[in-house]
Amino acid sequence: MNITHNVQKILTDLPECNPYGEKVTLVAAVKTRTPAEINEAIRAGIADIGDNRVQEFTQKYSQIEGNPRRHFIGRLQTNKIKYLLGKIDLYHSIDRMNLAEELNAQSGKRGIVSNILLEINIGGESTKGGFSEEQTEQTFKAAAALENLKIRGLMTVLPECDDMQYLSSLARKMRYYFEKLRDKSDDVDFLSMGMSGDYMLCIEQGSNMIRLGTAIFGPRI
Ligand SMILES: *Cc1c(COP(=O)(O)O)cnc(C)c1O
Repeated sequence: MNITHNVQKILTDLPECNPYGEKVTLVAAVKTRTPAEINEAIRAGIADIGDNRVQEFTQKYSQIEGNPRRHFIGRLQTNKIKYLLGKIDLYHSIDRMNLAEELNAQSGKRGIVSNILLEINIGGESTKGGFSEEQTEQTFKAAAALENLKIRGLMTVLPECDDMQYLSSLARKMRYYFEKLRDKSDDVDFLSMGMSGDYMLCIEQGSNMIRLGTAIFGPRI
């Protein structure tokens, strides 16, 4: 797999803006990849990387070069927050209220504000975490009261399926909820939606942040 080539091709082909005129941010999803692979992607132009697992993040942390922005995109247990605190620019996967509350409390103790996205389970899948679409507004309200968190937007992982029309309809719904929240707060600016299999569709529907693993690094072994 030629990581440099993949990154350059993705960056060339990526529309600079979504249909709403917003810049699209590319986050490299680096789970299972070695520091050498990640550093190659960074040298090729990746400025944002996203980790899923706290242990991997910690182990590789000092070996990552080029000072990319750091995202956390995986399921997070409250007892692991302490390993990430102050090192993550954006937490994508805030999927339950007690996680938001605990991150808020620990951020407060450190004297920092943590940037978060609320994860929405837009496909209503029982296998996935996240708030239901019906909970979106109420969750936003509750989380907005946590003063050491800044809610920057919404994140979702779309279902794995080949029905492009169905996926587009879900992506459109996410855009709708994103805009509703953005009307309520100037802090809201990111809609994190789109992976290797569906990112073009997601950008067309108004995503402005995509998370790519396979498209950059090849299949995970
Ligand atoms: C692994 C992962 C990705 C990237 O998936 P690919 O299909 O390899 O692009 C994106 N988002 C999350 C939350 C992930 O866990």
